[in-house]
Amino acid sequence: MDRYSEIQTHIASFAELEKMVLDSPRNYDIELLRKAYAVAEKAHNGQMRKSGEPYVTHPVAVAELLFELGMDTESLAAALMHDVVEDTEVTLEQLTTSFGSEIALLVDGVTKLTQLSFSSIEERQAENLRKMLLAMSKDVRVMVIKLCDRLHNMRTGDAWSPQKQREKALETMEVYAPIAHRMGINHVKEELENRSLRYLDPVGYQEICQLLEKKAANEFLQQISDNIQQHLADNGMPHAHLEYRLKSVYSIYRKMYVQNKEFAEIYDVYAVRVFLDNLAECYNALGIIHDMYHPIPNRFKDYISTPKPNGYQSLHTTVLGHEGIPFEVQIRTWEMHRTAEYGIAAHWKYKEGISGGSSNLDERLVWVRQLLEAQRDSEDTEDLLRNIKSDLLPEEVFAFTPKGDVINLPAGATVIDFAYAIHSAVGNRMVGAKVNSKIVPIEHTVQTGEIIEILTGPADKGPSRDWLNIAVTSEAKNKIRTWFKKECKEENIAEGRQAVERELRRNMISIPAESYDSFMEEIARKVHLNTVEDMYAAIGYGGLLVSKLLVRIKDEYKRFLQEEDPTQAFQIPPKTSTSSGGVVVEGIDNCLVKFSKCCSPLPGDEIVGFITRGYGVSIHKRDCVNARDCDSPRWVKAHWASGIRETFTTSLEIVSTDCMRCLNEVSGALSGMRVPVTGMNMRNTKDGRAMMNITITVNNAEHLRSVTDKLQKIRSVVSITRA
Ligand code: MN
Repeated sequence: MDRYSEIQTHIASFAELEKMVLDSPRNYDIELLRKAYAVAEKAHNGQMRKSGEPYVTHPVAVAELLFELGMDTESLAAALMHDVVEDTEVTLEQLTTSFGSEIALLVDGVTKLTQLSFSSIEERQAENLRKMLLAMSKDVRVMVIKLCDRLHNMRTGDAWSPQKQREKALETMEVYAPIAHRMGINHVKEELENRSLRYLDPVGYQEICQLLEKKAANEFLQQISDNIQQHLADNGMPHAHLEYRLKSVYSIYRKMYVQNKEFAEIYDVYAVRVFLDNLAECYNALGIIHDMYHPIPNRFKDYISTPKPNGYQSLHTTVLGHEGIPFEVQIRTWEMHRTAEYGIAAHWKYKEGISGGSSNLDERLVWVRQLLEAQRDSEDTEDLLRNIKSDLLPEEVFAFTPKGDVINLPAGATVIDFAYAIHSAVGNRMVGAKVNSKIVPIEHTVQTGEIIEILTGPADKGPSRDWLNIAVTSEAKNKIRTWFKKECKEENIAEGRQAVERELRRNMISIPAESYDSFMEEIARKVHLNTVEDMYAAIGYGGLLVSKLLVRIKDEYKRFLQEEDPTQAFQIPPKTSTSSGGVVVEGIDNCLVKFSKCCSPLPGDEIVGFITRGYGVSIHKRDCVNARDCDSPRWVKAHWASGIRETFTTSLEIVSTDCMRCLNEVSGALSGMRVPVTGMNMRNTKDGRAMMNITITVNNAEHLRSVTDKLQKIRSVVSITRA
C-alpha cells in the first residue's frame, strides 16, 4: 500500500537528539548543540506547526536527519537555528556574536534558500539565487541542511492544503531532488521524489504501490539473495553481504509513464545488492552471478571504471531468475556504497575512513562552480535559471575522445558541447566532428559510448553565432559568448544596436533623436549594465535577449510619452499591423487583440472581447451571434480607444440585378470615395441576379455607413449587407 503514509513521522525531541549524539562514536560538541537548541526553543516559543506540534520540533527533526547523514556539530547547530532569522526576532548579528561566523553563515545561507521560491521564478529573484550559489559554493553544508529541511517538510506535508502540497511537490521534484541527486545523496533524493509524486499524482502513485504489493516480492528476493550468498561463499567470498530492495515508486512511475513501458517490461524492479571488500572481488562476483543466471544482453553497466558524474560507482547487470523474472544485481565495495548513499555527506560521515576524501568532495563541487561561472558571463538571468534547471536534470551521457578520455554530458548535448567540454580552444577551433570515424553534422546529439573526434581549423577560426542555439550545456554557451564578447566587441556593438533598432521599428516606438541617448542610458541602467555600448555588446554576443530588453523599453517609453505630454497618456501603439489596434480591453493591458472574422467589428460598433486560449483577445460585435452567450468569465468588456485613427477591413455582400453594370458602378463609386478594395468576387445566383462579395478598408463605422449609403443609391444595387 502507500509506503509513505505508513511511516509514522514521529515527533522529534531534543532529548532524543541529545541521546543520539552522546551515543555516537563521533565527536560532537554537545554543549554547543544545547546552546543552539536553547536559542531555537526561546525564539520559536509559542509558534505552532500546521500539524499542531510546537514549531521547535521541526528544526530538531532536521538536525536529526543531518545527524543520520553524519554531518558535523556546526551543521546540526545551524539546523537547530535554521528558521530563527527568517521567522523570529533573532538577528544574524546576534548569532554571529554567540556562535561565531561559521554557524551564522550556514544559517544565513539556509535562510536565503528558504526565501527563494523556485516555482515562481522571476527576474528579481536572481539576486537571491546569486546569493544562494555563493553561499553554496562557500559551504556546501548549506545545501545539505536545506535538503533535510525540505525532506522533513515533505514528510509532514499532509497538514498542507492540496494547493500547497502541489506547489511544494513540484518545486521539490524540479529543484531539490535533482540537487540531492547531483550531490549523490541517493536515499534523500528517492524519498523526495516519491513523496512529491504522492502529491502530484496520487492515483498513479497508489497504482504502483499496489503492483509492487501483489508481486510477493520479498520471498522471491529472499530466495535469490540466499542462493547468491551460498555461491559466493562456495567461491571464497563468505564475507559477502547481500541486501535486496524494490525499485523506488517514482523510478517505476517514470518508466511506465514517461517511457511508456508495461510494469512487466521493467527489468530492474527487483534489485539485489552485493557488498564486497575490494574491486577484484566485485568483478569476480560478477562472473559467478553470470554463471548462475542468464544475463540479459546490453544491460551490463560498469560504473566502476566510468563513474557517474555525481561520483556513483557500482557494477550493474540484469539477469533472468529461474522463474523467468528478471532482476538487477548491483555489485560494489563498501566504500562505493557510502558514496552512493551519502554522496557529498559521506565526506563528513566517514571523514577518517576515506582516503583523499576532500579531493572527491572538490570534484563533486565542480558543477556548483560551473553554475557560478555561468552566472558571471550571462547578463540574462532568466536564461541562467533555465540553464540551471537543465543542468540539474539527472540524465547524462558518456562519450569518449579518440584517446579514450571520458566526457560526461547532459542528455541531448551536441558535438559542440562535447568540443567545449574538452577545452574552449577545441570548441572555438571546431570545424566539424567525426563520430565513430564518420563525419556528422554539428547538430549531432551525443549518445553514450560514441567515440567523437573534433576536427579543428586554424587557431583564429572562432565559433559561429548559430552555435548558441545548438549547444545545450551552459558551459558551451558561456564559452561561445565569452569568445564573442572578447573577440568581436565592435561587431557585437553594431549587431546589438541594429537588433534594438529593428525591434523599435517593429513595435512602432519612435524616440526623438534628442532624447535617444538618455533614453537608452536609462534602459542600460535598468539591466545593470554600465554603458549603452555594453548593452548593445551584450545583445550582440547573446548574453542578453533583445525580447527581454523590449519589455523595459516599452515601460520606459510609456513613461517617456507621459512626461512629454501629460494630457496624452496614451498607449504604446500595439504590436501588429493596422487592424489589431485601437481597442481597450478592460482589466488587461497590452494584450494581443484580433478581430473576429464572424462579424468584423468596426470602430463605433459596440464590442465585447473573448479571451482565447493562446491567441490573445478576440473582439466581437456585441450583437454578433457568437457573442450572445456572454456569461462565461472569458468574455470581457472592451471599447474602442479614443483618438486613435486606424483603418479596418470589412466585407460587404451586394445583391444586384445586373452583374456587369453593378461591377462597373460599384467600383467606380468606391474609387470616387477613395475607398481601397482588397478583395472581390462575384457569382450569378439561381434567380438570375448577381451576388458580389467585396472587401474594403474603412476608417470606422461612421465612414462605413456613408460608403454604404452611397452604394445603396446605385440603381442596379438591390441590397447591401455587412458580411
Ligand atoms: Mn524549516
